[in-house]
Amino acid sequence: MREKINLKDLQFNETEALMAELEEPKFRAKQIFAWLYKGAENFAQMKNVPHSLAEKLEERGCHTGALKPVKVQVSKLDGTRKYLFELDDGNTIESVFMKYKYGNTICISLQAGCRMGCRFCASTMEGLQRNLSPGEMSEQLLAAERDTGETINHIVIMGTGEPFDNYENLSAFLRIINDKNGRNLSMRNITVSTCGIVPAIRKFAEDFPQVNLAISLHAPDNETRSEMMPVNRKYPMDRLIEACRSYTARTSRRITFEYTLVKGVNDSRSHAEKLADLLRGMLCHVNLIPLNKVEETGLDTTGRKDAEAFCSVLEKRGIPATIRRELGDDIDGACGQLRLRRKK
Ligand code: SF4
Repeated sequence: MREKINLKDLQFNETEALMAELEEPKFRAKQIFAWLYKGAENFAQMKNVPHSLAEKLEERGCHTGALKPVKVQVSKLDGTRKYLFELDDGNTIESVFMKYKYGNTICISLQAGCRMGCRFCASTMEGLQRNLSPGEMSEQLLAAERDTGETINHIVIMGTGEPFDNYENLSAFLRIINDKNGRNLSMRNITVSTCGIVPAIRKFAEDFPQVNLAISLHAPDNETRSEMMPVNRKYPMDRLIEACRSYTARTSRRITFEYTLVKGVNDSRSHAEKLADLLRGMLCHVNLIPLNKVEETGLDTTGRKDAEAFCSVLEKRGIPATIRRELGDDIDGACGQLRLRRKK
């Protein structure tokens, strides 16, 4: 039996090649590609695609890869929507739709599960199940648009998984979602967050200099960071910061450092001072995130007052920092929690 083809896994030129294989004119690729990123769920919704071509596509095992959420949590406070999607093979993934002043944003997952083992994270508790395909990445945005009826113009890749652990599919996705024949979403409106895979940071700066980079830092020194994030044992802080400096030199883009505040672990004044030393002179911004409590980790969140004190140490030392506005406070906020709850 021939393998099924998720049309959203294909680049535009691969869609053209598929039309050639089906003995269809080239312009059909343009029509199909455009429909896919307008959110068409099936071939019948592709108004200018003839029935005969739809039949050929079905015979060839092609599908649109449309996903329907199996669960949606909606925040009554700010309209944040958290989705749980079930993939073809039964794996589940999460995405979050958020409304910001600058536009609607979707936070997407790149893997089902994660093998990075960060101590504070619910997504890694059952390890990595598998990488997502480019089409499964795009579809998280499109399914959220169908559900909300709103346009999403920003993507943050901060959901489940380490993006650079799925580099090839991430690259394909970025090229597809940016393609002018389809979604044409600006690379500048996309942010990729990594836990610090150093060689990939260097490669990413060369491959995608217009995409924003965020680093999940979460600690100012090797001892604390290795305790929280096993990746730090392989790529310690000095190598990570050096890669960040060369990223900025190559791209002239400001890096966001994500710093989750965990009570009694990384949130003292001396941690803040060390962080200010570490980032001195860098083109960066620190995003302080009070921990979203996950029962299973046994870790607690830093109170608002202590978070503000931490932030003001950084600001006084000239490091731009903000405490993240908590969106969707009334729903399961932490990444990976919906997935985990469903399995119980
Ligand atoms: S924080 Fe990110 S990289 Fe770390 S375990 Fe969770 S999903 Fe993986």
